[in-house]
Amino acid sequence: MNLRAIKAALPSSPAFVIDRDALLANLLALAELKKHSGVRVLYSIKSLPLSRVLQEAKPYVDGFSVSSLFEARLAREVLPKPGGIHLTTPGLRPDEIEALGAHCTHIGFNSLSQFRRFAPVLDGKVSTGLRVNPKLSRLNDVRFDPCRRHSKLGVPIEDLASLESWQGIAGLHLHNSFSATGYTTLTETLQKIEDCLGDRLEQLEWINLGGGYLYGGIADQRPFIDAVRRLRSRYGVSAYIEPGKAVVGNAGHLIATVLDVFESDGKTVAVLDTSVNHHPEVFEYQRRPDLAEAAPNGGYPAILAGCTCLAGDLFGEYRFAAPLAIGDKVVFKHVGAYSLIKANRFNGCNLPDIYIAGNDGLECVKQFSYEEFRNQWRCGRDLPEDAKKDAAVTV
Ligand SMILES: *Cc1c(COP(=O)(O)O)cnc(C)c1O
Repeated sequence: MNLRAIKAALPSSPAFVIDRDALLANLLALAELKKHSGVRVLYSIKSLPLSRVLQEAKPYVDGFSVSSLFEARLAREVLPKPGGIHLTTPGLRPDEIEALGAHCTHIGFNSLSQFRRFAPVLDGKVSTGLRVNPKLSRLNDVRFDPCRRHSKLGVPIEDLASLESWQGIAGLHLHNSFSATGYTTLTETLQKIEDCLGDRLEQLEWINLGGGYLYGGIADQRPFIDAVRRLRSRYGVSAYIEPGKAVVGNAGHLIATVLDVFESDGKTVAVLDTSVNHHPEVFEYQRRPDLAEAAPNGGYPAILAGCTCLAGDLFGEYRFAAPLAIGDKVVFKHVGAYSLIKANRFNGCNLPDIYIAGNDGLECVKQFSYEEFRNQWRCGRDLPEDAKKDAAVTV
């Protein structure tokens, strides 16, 4: 289904729509990479942990990568043992380590302190390793840079190099890239790892190269294939990648309806039935999502605004070929990753309905109700267990 057909068929708004063809194309691109390089592929579920996405990904991947106990449990429900579930997080908790050990096959500890404290508790049931900070900053925005000064992410590479014994360290976990469309950072990072750690890499069983690359969109896959083949043959390790955005980023769209249009200080403002709370990175990082209807040279600019009380709840100013009217639908494209998972119901505005667009049309896979909002905020007996039915309104 193309966007025009999806828009025409969509029965409700706002809607988060997953384009199944795009999702499968991304998974096929990763399978292709796997075939040529021998890399093992994990889907990093934090970008969109929707069970349907996990089910779609399952046949194409070697497992899932997770950041918490809840994610590990969800991944394990979709992928029974012995399927691979790999975890790394700076937030390991003593009260969860046992449960994590039961669900995860691999854990990359974020610090030597956590490794020393928790690896012995796991008692050989999990393949344990370390997240390493390669100290190679290649990002201009420190908010995304795991190698920033005073980083909280990973064991500094020089500490790993000077560590006398690597006993108990079966793998290394790297992740220092963000939405990259080439492999320069990867090859530079691996060069540094080899320079600093040398033949000690032979002692490892696995190296996890992290996420942060838009694999399917990279034209020349040679550097990746060569790097992975080299790791495997030279050091005898398994190589993993754990993409999130490369799996779902371009496969998800947020569709909204124009609720109101008016002029404000000489500019047109269109209020939508969605808000930046359905895609918080728009506000957090002042990002402007691609809009399907935008016409760069169109004569009708309008500020697309969210429906909450926050003055800065704005998607930005876009140009249109015709004036926007109440009831028009607009599509924020390629917002599949890190949108729905961060979405909230601020102002009591409901979350979007979730659809899968496939060959047979649109399938609504989830709708959120007043009951769910109420359950989130109801404390004990302050309100009765069941919501009062509103006789005047059918919901
Ligand atoms: C977020 C994250 C990923 C996935 O990153 P994408 O940019 O979505 O590919 C993989 N590994 C680690 C350690 C992460 O923090």
